[in-house]
Amino acid sequence: MTRPTHVTLFPENLRHNYRIAKSLANGLVWAVVKADAYGHGARFCAVELASLADGYAVACVDEAKALRHFGIKQPILVMQGAYRSSEWQDAESLQLTMMIHHEDQLDFIPPQLGPIDVWLKVNSGMNRLGINLPQVDDVLAMIERHPSLRLQQIASHFATADIANDALFQQQQARMASRQWPVPVSFCNSAALLQPTTVLNGVSQGVSRPGIMLYGGSPLAHKSSNELDLKPVMSLQSAVISTHEVAIGESIGYGQAWIAERPTRVGVVAIGYGDGYPRRAPNGTPVAVDGIICPLVGRVSMDMITVDLTDHPSAQIGSVVECWGEHVDVDVVAELCHTIAYELFCQITPRVVRQTVTLKQ
Ligand SMILES: *Cc1c(COP(=O)(O)O)cnc(C)c1O
Repeated sequence: MTRPTHVTLFPENLRHNYRIAKSLANGLVWAVVKADAYGHGARFCAVELASLADGYAVACVDEAKALRHFGIKQPILVMQGAYRSSEWQDAESLQLTMMIHHEDQLDFIPPQLGPIDVWLKVNSGMNRLGINLPQVDDVLAMIERHPSLRLQQIASHFATADIANDALFQQQQARMASRQWPVPVSFCNSAALLQPTTVLNGVSQGVSRPGIMLYGGSPLAHKSSNELDLKPVMSLQSAVISTHEVAIGESIGYGQAWIAERPTRVGVVAIGYGDGYPRRAPNGTPVAVDGIICPLVGRVSMDMITVDLTDHPSAQIGSVVECWGEHVDVDVVAELCHTIAYELFCQITPRVVRQTVTLKQ
């Protein structure tokens, strides 16, 4: 048999999640498909959303170029804007929307270019990219009198929108709301869209920029994707390739990270950190074997993991294993690994084959 390790993608769920974002947004929704659509495949996601999406957002010009190459016609926002002069040229020829997060980006715009749609990124408290509030008027004036640029939106990004009633989240909203802006404002990532308290979502009329929720991950610390009616777009799967018994006191795998406390039937599954399954996953991490949750036991290797099948006697060689997706909530795995679903998704390696399934509804 060929290696059974693959990602199954559900395009209907991607569209379902997009529709949820759209129902929450008070305006347009541009789907964030940076980092190969959070590991789901930028081409797949962009094309599957093409009939719905108002636009797309990516991190860099190279990612935007790829989307145009896939035939995407909608607006594409480049969230880090131009790194150098030639990218302003690309923006013109590919009709990209460029974020300006620093006034230096204006210095290397080639002459006689444009008009190019731009957004201005304002730092409201994330303190990463963006113009600080006291300087915003100066930069706005520079953009407004620049012959190549056409200002479309003011953007800002929240640092703590995933936490209900967080003080910095409230403060960032208040800072932005306390000003009159010349164009609509774009604030909401997934977490902000899903927070009922997002004041600016109600007044902004700007473009929302959800990412993780489109892929079925919950951005909120206190709510599961299920509670938010988000559906997984990815199922990371493999199969049992061997089973055997270990006696009490025997260990499994590298470093004796797990020792049998009862006679145990162990299943070996053909997936490991070489596929992007996190090596940090501890004993007990849920793994679905033919839809039944079994605990991970022993250390994750490069090409395999081991699971305890003692309580699942019908499992056998060839049984389908899901590491996350429909049966195992990716956010649960992420939390056990002290990370977030974003990182788990992005870490899936090229060795894993991607296949698409159309759900019977
Ligand atoms: C990645 C990103 C988003 C999307 O964030 P999610 O948490 O995945 O919804 C939105 N805006 C900016 C500026 C980003 O970098």
